[in-house]
Amino acid sequence: MAEEELEKVVESLPSDVVNDLASLGLCNRCIFRALGVQGHRIYASPSLFFPSIHHHQQQQLCTLCLGILQFSFSDDSGILHNKQNDDVALLIADMLKRQRYHFESFSLEVSIPPIILQNDNSLSSYIKTKYGSQQNFHVGCISAKDALKFSLVHPLQNLLKSSLQECKSSASSFRIRLTYTHSKASKGAENCSDTAQGCKRRKTGESNLVGEKPSNSSLENETSDCCKFLLETVNEPCHFTYTCYRTPFYFGGRYLKYSRNVSQTRWIIDDERMGEASVEEIIGGNILQACQADSFKFHAAGREDIDVRMLGPGRPFLVEVQNSRYVPSELSVEDIEKLINNMENKLVRVKNLKLVGSQGWELMREGEAEKQKQYTALVWISRPLKDEDFQCVSSLNDLKVLQRTPIRVLHRRSPLEREKIIHWMKMETVAGSSQYFLLHLCTQAGTYIKEFVHGDLGRTHPSIGSILGCRAEILQLDVTDIKMECFLT
Ligand SMILES: [Zn+2]
Repeated sequence: MAEEELEKVVESLPSDVVNDLASLGLCNRCIFRALGVQGHRIYASPSLFFPSIHHHQQQQLCTLCLGILQFSFSDDSGILHNKQNDDVALLIADMLKRQRYHFESFSLEVSIPPIILQNDNSLSSYIKTKYGSQQNFHVGCISAKDALKFSLVHPLQNLLKSSLQECKSSASSFRIRLTYTHSKASKGAENCSDTAQGCKRRKTGESNLVGEKPSNSSLENETSDCCKFLLETVNEPCHFTYTCYRTPFYFGGRYLKYSRNVSQTRWIIDDERMGEASVEEIIGGNILQACQADSFKFHAAGREDIDVRMLGPGRPFLVEVQNSRYVPSELSVEDIEKLINNMENKLVRVKNLKLVGSQGWELMREGEAEKQKQYTALVWISRPLKDEDFQCVSSLNDLKVLQRTPIRVLHRRSPLEREKIIHWMKMETVAGSSQYFLLHLCTQAGTYIKEFVHGDLGRTHPSIGSILGCRAEILQLDVTDIKMECFLT
């Protein structure tokens, strides 16, 4: 900002109020914001000064912002710093370069001790009471958070420009977080809200204004308190830390599992891995590496047992990627899909991999709602197959089956009896065998298929065994289709 412009702003402010605020121990930026001065550039200007204020007053920590807007703070090693906004912007920019994030925009998140808002509230009432009747200035207060953002965004944008196309501090997935804490903040933080009525936040144009026109009715009550108004002197600056992170984003798609020795999620029992790999690790691991992220969460719509293959159109899944260094382009999403599908072991494949919005979890939950599933089972029976078996089985439409909680899952599920529907079934011969056949069936989601074949010692009824009047065993099972109203089709 040009010096003359700044001077003009300074001259426009009522000098009696400015001097009063300075005598209360406010820093220059706090004086500007207490008087509702708008304009990002003013707060970003390192050469803020008031000719009427003695220099030594400005050396002390501001009683309103505890030194935050003077860029005085202590770091993790307890070392005190007295800097300019440009220096702090430089510290942050250095950190960003070290951490190797790729971003095109950033958002600043600021956390400050609640006592500063309390101070602002008290000061607002004080100004309104004492000067509210004066015509020549606007009552209203820019929040300390906004003033801090204004003073850092421009220098930061300048520093980061070389590596970026455009770098706006808007709602971005890439966040720079500044955290200020103060030992004083713990005292009295509870009665933060009731100090004055004058400090309701409202959005006006580019910044948040705190403060309203004084109402005459409340003036008298406040007068006695506010004239004794004193901000406490602070000896210690705030502790300041800064960090950056990327908000999570989501990959969605469908997976196919070709192995009977791969679990859906990483499965370890007593330090021993079950199966040779997991869908979660294969898909999530590749995404993690491609995005250079810290971690991921895998979530699928339903699950199949480790020894059941997932075929057909596949099962919908989501991967939440946490603190990623990159946000992949559409093209690199395709590359990740190819990478997974071209793995040598061919255990898992993905389809329709894409970036989905943060509504992904909700869509997934909706998509999981009760739907139909199709399976193919390889079945063995204790006698040779007869022609009438085929007609018998295929004539059973919407068969009701009662299933008590299977023995194999009783240790983790409560014992219940549930009714499930087998919508249709079809038998297919296996060449060269009279006691094996393929059973294709479509069932209500949540049906225990293995138990429906062998009967689970009578706990599932009817079963293929009871229908055919012999012993039936299931040797292999594949999921061949999942009908769900899911977005990932
Ligand atoms: Zn201040």
